[in-house]
Amino acid sequence: MAEMKVVEKIMAANDQIAEQNRRLLDERGIVTVNLMASPGAGKTSLILCTVEALRGRLRVGAIEGDTASRVDADRVATAGVPVVQINTGGGCHLDAPMVRYALNRLPLDEIDLLLIENVGNLVCPAGFALGEHVNVVIASVPEGDDKPYKYPGMFSVVDAVVINKTDLLPYLDFDMVAFRELIAGLNPEARIFEVSCKTGEGIEAWADWLAGMCS
Ligand code: MG
Ligand code: ZN
Repeated sequence: MAEMKVVEKIMAANDQIAEQNRRLLDERGIVTVNLMASPGAGKTSLILCTVEALRGRLRVGAIEGDTASRVDADRVATAGVPVVQINTGGGCHLDAPMVRYALNRLPLDEIDLLLIENVGNLVCPAGFALGEHVNVVIASVPEGDDKPYKYPGMFSVVDAVVINKTDLLPYLDFDMVAFRELIAGLNPEARIFEVSCKTGEGIEAWADWLAGMCS
């Protein structure tokens, strides 16, 4: 029971800081998206595609969460995006204090849309509020069409599902109709975007959806 209390306290403290983050983002008029996915689904690639699609329309900033390294932040910085890398030191999710640390180091006056790349993991990132406005999960075609069965907690709470790497559909047994039906069953409100960061297909609709929230 004592352990339970510790967990409850941590969650309450996280929620309080998440609310402070949200207030700061609201004051600055920054729409913030929490991007979640398993490792290799294409979170960083989607951020880069999105930046290109929105260039000249919206100023994008990023927070890169990883257990170690700053390779993703370096890739994003090369695209001219203000970015802060957070290394969790092995931790499997971002939390609100980490995001606050990053917000204190970003040029908030130069950002309209903030994309947070969470740590690659389909379980606990959905349980930690960061102060974000929108939650998105990226699923990629090579991962298979049964992901929503295995991770219903994630797929049922997000505002949108991005299905990435659709250029690989001809080579894999991925049943798009079944996949979309699974998502609709768990989360009828979720928007679904089919994209390929490789060919650019579908990126415009996704970018337009984000831009619509920023206006
Ligand atoms: Mg990445
Ligand atoms: Zn975790």
